[in-house]
Amino acid sequence: MTDHVLVTGGAGYIGSHACKALKAAGYVPVTFDNLSTGWREAVKFGPFEEGCLTDRARLDEVFARWKPVAVMHFAALSLVGESMKDPGKYWRGNVLASLNLIEAACAAGCLDFIFSSTCATYGDQDGVILDETTRQAPINAYGASKRAIEDMLADFAGSHGLRHVIFRYFNVAGADPEAEVGEFHQPETHLIPLMLDAIDGKRPALTIFGTDYPTPDGTCIRDYVHVCDLADAHVLGLEWLRAGKGSSVFCLGSGKGFSVREVIDQSAAVTNRAVPITEGARRPGDAAVLVSGSTRAERDLGWRPKRSDLRTMIADAWRWHQAGGYGR
Ligand code: UDP
Repeated sequence: MTDHVLVTGGAGYIGSHACKALKAAGYVPVTFDNLSTGWREAVKFGPFEEGCLTDRARLDEVFARWKPVAVMHFAALSLVGESMKDPGKYWRGNVLASLNLIEAACAAGCLDFIFSSTCATYGDQDGVILDETTRQAPINAYGASKRAIEDMLADFAGSHGLRHVIFRYFNVAGADPEAEVGEFHQPETHLIPLMLDAIDGKRPALTIFGTDYPTPDGTCIRDYVHVCDLADAHVLGLEWLRAGKGSSVFCLGSGKGFSVREVIDQSAAVTNRAVPITEGARRPGDAAVLVSGSTRAERDLGWRPKRSDLRTMIADAWRWHQAGGYGR
């Protein structure tokens, strides 16, 4: 029988790409999603179960029906700015929901668990190159909620034998090169899709959030990693757990930092169009620099990012953007 994997947030940006990668690797991805930010049209690679992580009876039913060999937990609220304005939404929507899921997985005996964490758990470390050993000190409620879930996984590893791989993502970008799935949020808040909208005339201009950071050009520096490379890492993480190699944490980034202005310049080059910009204030909760210095995923998982150069990420995002997104 083909092995099923429960993918929470499988209708979302990263989850849908992971479903495609799981299917290609011979698994059946079962999407569990409440469609609060995801899209029904993004569920293309396996069955769909609509439901909320806060509904324990529904989760129990889904575990009983599909008997998944593992969970990939993508479903989350993930907006730094929103988390600063409404932290309760993040503690409930991320931490409580994840507790429910972890308890349901343990009760069902589904003990291989892959969790989407974030470099936002590190906070602002004054330009330090980050890896798995760096102290976590989140400066926004989003990062704090993700760190709490990491702690929760460690506790359930002790009590229930839960085996977990934690991936701390840097800035995820790009889209499926075949444009079957891609990034599409409503409202959109992320740099690259907003920029492509501005290039395309769908928005008046991109606002640069802060030009007075202690970086060479004054704008924030981020490490962008292609969503398909991230999806591949998840399949490798799954195989790592299923081979009995134990719980681990991996940073997933390209190891290269680009400022907001550099991303703007590269987008202009890729699309051959001007990017209308305005300069605005800093966004509360943003660190100046977040760049991965880790090679652990390459070393342990054999992860080889293939599309995580900035040009390819923007070109893939642009192709997807032109294909139109969902629900349009
Ligand atoms: N950013 C910006 N203007 C925007 C959106 C984002 O200048 O309209 C900046 C933001 O301050 C950060 C970087 O772009 O430095 C990436 O932000 P995004 O929201 O895409 O991802 P995050 O870093 O919050 O995960």
